[in-house]
Amino acid sequence: MAVANKNKAVELVKLFRKNVGLKKSVKQRLDSVVEMIAQVMGVDAVACYLVLDDNCLELFAASGFEKKNFESVSLRVGEGIIGGIAMSKRTTAVENIWLNPDFLYRAEAKEDNFKSFLGAPLIRWGRGIGVLCLYKKELYEFRKDDVEALETLAMAFADWAASDEMRKYKNSFMQKRGQATKDSYKGISLSRGFGIGPAVVHRRRQTVTKILAEDKNAELERLKTAHTQMNEDLDEKFNSSKLGLGEHADILEAYRMFAKDKGWYNKIAGYVDGGLTAEAAVERAYEDMWNRLSATQDTYLKERLHDLRDIADRLLAYLCGDNTSISISELNEIVVVAQTMGPADLMDYDYHKIKALILEDGSPTMHVAIVAKALGIPVVSKIKGIYKEIRSGEILAVNGDEGIVYVAPSDKILSSIRAKIEQRKSLVAQMEKLRDIPPITKNKKRINMYINVGLDFDLDYIESTNCDGIGLYRTEIPFMAAEKMPDVEHQISYYKKLMDKAGDKKVVFRSLDVGSDKLLPYWTYSGEENPAIGWRSIRITLDRRAILRQQMRAFIRAAAGKELNVMFPMISNLTEFCDAKETLMLELEKEKKRSDRIPTKVNVGLMIEVPSVVFQLDAILPEADFISVGTNDLAQFVFACDRTNNRLFERYDVLSVPFLRIMQTIIQQANAANVFCSVCGEMASNPIEAMVLLGLGYRNLSIAGSSFGKVKSMILSANTDELADYVQTLLDFNQRTLRPQLIAYANDHGIEIL
Ligand code: PEP
Ligand code: MG
Repeated sequence: MAVANKNKAVELVKLFRKNVGLKKSVKQRLDSVVEMIAQVMGVDAVACYLVLDDNCLELFAASGFEKKNFESVSLRVGEGIIGGIAMSKRTTAVENIWLNPDFLYRAEAKEDNFKSFLGAPLIRWGRGIGVLCLYKKELYEFRKDDVEALETLAMAFADWAASDEMRKYKNSFMQKRGQATKDSYKGISLSRGFGIGPAVVHRRRQTVTKILAEDKNAELERLKTAHTQMNEDLDEKFNSSKLGLGEHADILEAYRMFAKDKGWYNKIAGYVDGGLTAEAAVERAYEDMWNRLSATQDTYLKERLHDLRDIADRLLAYLCGDNTSISISELNEIVVVAQTMGPADLMDYDYHKIKALILEDGSPTMHVAIVAKALGIPVVSKIKGIYKEIRSGEILAVNGDEGIVYVAPSDKILSSIRAKIEQRKSLVAQMEKLRDIPPITKNKKRINMYINVGLDFDLDYIESTNCDGIGLYRTEIPFMAAEKMPDVEHQISYYKKLMDKAGDKKVVFRSLDVGSDKLLPYWTYSGEENPAIGWRSIRITLDRRAILRQQMRAFIRAAAGKELNVMFPMISNLTEFCDAKETLMLELEKEKKRSDRIPTKVNVGLMIEVPSVVFQLDAILPEADFISVGTNDLAQFVFACDRTNNRLFERYDVLSVPFLRIMQTIIQQANAANVFCSVCGEMASNPIEAMVLLGLGYRNLSIAGSSFGKVKSMILSANTDELADYVQTLLDFNQRTLRPQLIAYANDHGIEIL
């Protein structure tokens, strides 16, 4: 019997692999696999359900059913016998389904003919991702060897179900069903927030085809009319928009003045006088300006050039009679997609309706981004090709926090973005409510709450959160957004802006942390086998010492008269840290000789991201003024799990014994050495994880500004003494994740973790 059982399982898996390996489409292979299962298992029908999202199972392949309907059979996880198998992840045999209280009759599946049933779950990383079902017409008690054979096959099947080709197939299947995520694009976020709406593709630039004018005077008249009309329309638009005061209003005002600028107009008129058409003259005047300004490093002038391009395009549109604002009157919510845009272009739309803005080209200092941000519109930019690919009317969902645009999003994505929109409203309200309440726990422990800063708009959180300072300034972000490597002067201007905004609050600068997933557009990277553990971060800046020296110089000059805190990322041993520190100190010595305006104090620290340094803390801590744990990279290296690989997403949990033990070692050693220790990785930004950090003894958290309110709520409702006792007891539980226990604990103890 055992041999027969073993043979059946072996034969099934062998035939399965043979079928899957055939050079046929996925659909054809799925069909032949279910046929084969029916034959080998001696059953009348086979069905294969796969989980499409967390809630829904779809019938993907079947044999022995009346086929015409089977592509529309779906059920919820937990629903009926099959949904129950996906949920409980247990194989279930039923001798007579008609007598089973869980049986859910679905006419569309034509289950009328069947009586006996055997279903096995497809399991991947502990999750039910589908169900394989066998049916027999006669009453039949499935035997142990049937169960074992099906379970063995289910293991091989689950592997295939999670493969790339199946993922693609599932996507196309969903598309056919009209619930597809056609695609998603990753760009960079210029303004945070979430939005959903049909795409409105912003007008394309006009190309000038006629160069020479036939009638100079008529051409001048045309130019005058178009110019006057454009300015009248701009005045009307600006006057009717209630934009309030601020940088964005100044930008728009400057734009309006620019459009009226006599010098610019006279220049165009001069070219028309010289024989060009009005359109060609507009282009010519723009080129003149471009030739003069394009080489400048001055961001202000660069932005002026953007504005001029936009005004020139606007005037061209009036000259061509294509100046009507896009008609969106019947739409209440839109997502605008543009190649690039001037700030006034937003006024072409009723800006209350703009739920998000997507720019193919764009930088944080771009005027349209500043205006959009002031209007609360999420902006995503730097997505190559999106402008051409998106069609007006296509539904887009935008995650402005992470810079992701979903085209034709699935119901699941739509509801998650909608939930984020609501959540954002309540987070803002929560942050405002708690702003002036100090972060003190129930047992009267003051927790220091810092924020992480990258893009310019993070600076606003300094004021709105009332934080204790900036625990991590990711200096690579302005480097990534720039067109070329910023020189010392440019760097000083970024850093000073931050120092000025921070006032007396502490600021921790991190040295350039590029490479791996953070690439500079103006550097060429030779492909590496393993970029996350390759030439990146401090490894690059120690090897390209001039870059490090320049950055240290910029830090020192930007912090003149104030305290300077510098930390180095991705340090793997004491030697690297001392080497980097020495570079900073040498620059400081040089600066002392050059100027008497130096920082009042310089503190040097490192990030704990590479596990090797945890084992050398005894030697490193005496050399460091502070440390900060970068849990994102630390988890990546502790679990040997690429943080950018979606397949590994949620496979390991920081809330587990190995990671928590490491985190405990770090804080215990730092406390013993009396060295300031904070956490600046994502762990500090997630309430349940931050709660555990408190339990482990951490008192300094550096948080994403948007998560500040929810982490503060957690702090206000927690008791660190009780947490310390509880977390200690958990360190002996060796399951994959301790999250369920911790959530239950928070709920039982009234700790707010939502
Ligand atoms: C980290 O690794 O936890 C960290 C804060 O750095 P980054 O996310 O920028 O790599
Ligand atoms: Mg890191």
